[in-house]
Amino acid sequence: MVAPTLLFQDTGENNMKITEIIGGEKPSLSFEVFPPKTSDNFETVKKATEEIALLKPSYMSVTYGAGGGTSQYTVSIAENLQKNFSVPSLAHLSCVSSTKDEIMSQLGLLKEKGIENILALRGDIPEGMSKEHLDYHYASELTREIKEYGGFCIGGACYPEAHPESSTSFDDIRYLKEKVDAGCEFLVTQMFFDNDVLYNFMYRIREAGINVPVVAGIMPVTNPKSIKRICRISGSALPQRFCRIVDKYGDNPEAMTEAGIAYATQQIIDLYANGINAVHVYSMNKPEVARKIQSNVSAIIGL
Ligand code: FAD
Repeated sequence: MVAPTLLFQDTGENNMKITEIIGGEKPSLSFEVFPPKTSDNFETVKKATEEIALLKPSYMSVTYGAGGGTSQYTVSIAENLQKNFSVPSLAHLSCVSSTKDEIMSQLGLLKEKGIENILALRGDIPEGMSKEHLDYHYASELTREIKEYGGFCIGGACYPEAHPESSTSFDDIRYLKEKVDAGCEFLVTQMFFDNDVLYNFMYRIREAGINVPVVAGIMPVTNPKSIKRICRISGSALPQRFCRIVDKYGDNPEAMTEAGIAYATQQIIDLYANGINAVHVYSMNKPEVARKIQSNVSAIIGL
């Protein structure tokens, strides 16, 4: 049997800039994947990302785990999606645990592999790490450096419910404006489960003079065990109607998957209907989840 990767091996690379993809009237739907932590499961993860790529999403993002081999896997997975599946890729890059030299060599590698889009991140500060001798403290410093390096379309993270370390949401938006002024051309939001939170955030950032496109990040919850932990770390609130679903179906994996996909689909349709044209799904290396979400909105996004 011929492997799907071979069947779909494209000849032409698709290295469009994310701003070109999300800038028009056509709604975009993209998916996030994460690289393996060790080489042992590289092939399994690669295969899952390829199955998602076969859906031909608008683009795919590949997360970054600082240090060790994982940073290389981000590049190799992003390169594979772009070269062999013609899916534009967005490589995440975090800076807080890296030296300037390490960042420069990562930028060199990304350029060499033809990756044009970078999501510039600070990353989480490891517990107990002294902030004194860090080369980078905030994502805006990395953004400025990538901008100076040249040739990349740069995105940044934003937090509709404010970043958990921020003392006020007002400060968070002020620093977000600095990050955009440093060179961010688009923003991707942290997950949220109540669309009104995003609409309110959009109003506030536009008032603050942040005018770059915003991609809404949606997480279809299929594993209720991890969601409470994720929300604690990310600062995302869980609405009552969402908690009812988790309470009712959380012990039944199949029912929970169905309900989680339905909830995410409703959020996505509401976003498109309200003029948020770019939606990014945290598909967590689950091709089946990505496929169902895409099929639920196929007419809406014009597939
Ligand atoms: P920043 O923009 O630097 O903000 C961090 C905090 O510092 C905020 O509270 C901000 O208000 C504050 N701040 C900013 N500038 C200043 C300043 N000048 N003075 C004082 N305070 C300031 N992590 C990974 O490790 N790998 C990933 O692949 C990854 N992907 C992500 C994708 C998305 C869409 C999102 C939303 C997050 C992702 N993260 C990832 C997590 C992210 O690294 C963490 O949330 C991290 O804590 C903050 O990163 P940031 O880039 O938003 O930081």
